Parts: sequence; structure tokens; C-alpha cells
Amino acid sequence: MPRSLLWCLAGLLLGAGSVSGFWFFQQQFPDLPVESPEPIAQGDGLQPLLSPNPHAAERCAELLGIRERDTPADPTNFGVRRPTDSSGGLVPDQPSLVVVHETVLSLEDTLHFFQTPHPRDADQASYHLLLDRNGTAYRLVPDLNRAFGAGWSAWGDATIRHHPATTPLAGGSLNNVALHISLESPEDGRGDDDAHGGYSKSQYLRLAEHVLIWQLRWGIPMRRITTHESVDRSHSRRDPRSFRWERFDRAWDVAAKRCGISIDGPYGIDAKPAMTASVQQDR
Ligand SMILES: [Zn+2]
Repeated sequence: MPRSLLWCLAGLLLGAGSVSGFWFFQQQFPDLPVESPEPIAQGDGLQPLLSPNPHAAERCAELLGIRERDTPADPTNFGVRRPTDSSGGLVPDQPSLVVVHETVLSLEDTLHFFQTPHPRDADQASYHLLLDRNGTAYRLVPDLNRAFGAGWSAWGDATIRHHPATTPLAGGSLNNVALHISLESPEDGRGDDDAHGGYSKSQYLRLAEHVLIWQLRWGIPMRRITTHESVDRSHSRRDPRSFRWERFDRAWDVAAKRCGISIDGPYGIDAKPAMTASVQQDR
């Protein structure tokens, strides 16, 4: 008789019943394979999913008449995208996510804050781009640098840790792969209210255009366009308050059509994951 059957019978004979009989069986063979989940690699799922197409981005920027005012942030307020984590392991360091914010402060106060040297880590902050109420774009940090826009943050379970587990910053951040763009808040948005008067039509139009350029330049699908509130892990960030996605979508459709980008293609909101393997139809 097979040994396993013997143990089953023994369990039954001991009056243990089928459930505890199985338990008895397990106790005798503790080396049976046990399923355990695969550990999630650092930054898993944060690489761009489409092929970057800088030429298409440049052509689209020309068609849309994209302009940026150069207003660089102080070098203390941004850094470099790091290819490795604190233990030397490789991590994603290419832009693969766009995070939308609002300033809360006025344009002048926001620019002043980012252009002021901040030697203390806790005070350092920046976005790559800022759009004022008229939609004028201010370039604060180059795409290739790491803006400090979302401290403790994650995309689903994916994040990148550059600090040892014993430090308060161990929770990880998306800054290594994020492109941050912020909208100047309206006058009634300077406080801590839950909502305000919202963003201007020009802001939605220019936001959609800059997002589209980033999508083309870095190969970022629409499902990786998100908000600070959505990726924040500190439970303290709610921006951009009063943001209306459907207005962004309409503005994006206008920009995409002007650049000859199919709104049903791999960059659009309805793109299927399988479609993201190719961007040929939009080239
Ligand atoms: Zn924010």
C-alpha cells in the first residue's frame, strides 16, 4: 500500500475526520512544495510601454506651436534620474509616467519657491513644467532630470526605493520615472478647501498638448497619465483638486488630430494593452 494512503487511513482510524486527517498528512511531509508569491521587483511595470519617437514628438510640437519659457529651478530643488537603488540594483530611470499637480500658490510665489535654494531635503521640490492661468508653459526642470514632485508615491504596487529601509523615506517614490506638470490654481484655490473654481480652457488645451508631446517622446500610453492624488502614499496630497478628466480628454483629442495621431490608436484612452506593442499606425 502507498505510504500516503497509509497516513490517510491512519488519520481516519484515529477518528480525526477528513480535514484533520489532511492536516496530519501535511505534518508528516513538511517538505511538500509551498506556493509563495514572486517578490515584486523594484519599479516593475514602470518602463515605457510604447517605442519612444522623438522625431514624431518634435514634429507634433512644431504643428502645435509649443513654446516653453525657460525659468530653471535652483539646482538644490532637482536631481539626476538614478540608474541604481541604494543597494546598487538596477532600477528604471526613463520617464514612463506623467503626474499632474496644481500649485495652490500663485504663479509668482511658485516660481519664487522653486528658484530659491533649499539646502534641507524636506524643503526641496519642483515640477518639470508649470502652466499659468493663460496656459503659458514655464520650464523648470529638463525631462532628463529628476524633479522632486511626488515624495512618498507608488503606481499600484510599483515604486522605487533609494533609501535604506531604516529611514523615514524608505517607502519609495516615483520621481525617478515621473514627468511632473502643474497647473496654476485659481484665486479661490489658495487655501485648503476640498474644491475650487477649476482650471481655464487654455490650461486644459496646453496640458493636453504637453502630455501628448511627452507620450510621443518617451513612449507613454494614456493609462500612465495620472494625478498626484492618485499616486500619493502619504495620504496628504489631494491635487489637482477640481480637475475634470473629460475636459482634458476633449483637449487631447483636438491636439492629437492636429498632429495626425489616431485617437483610437495606442496613445489614446481606449488603447488595449496588446495595441501598445506597436506605434506604427501613428507614425
Ligand atoms: Zn502635487
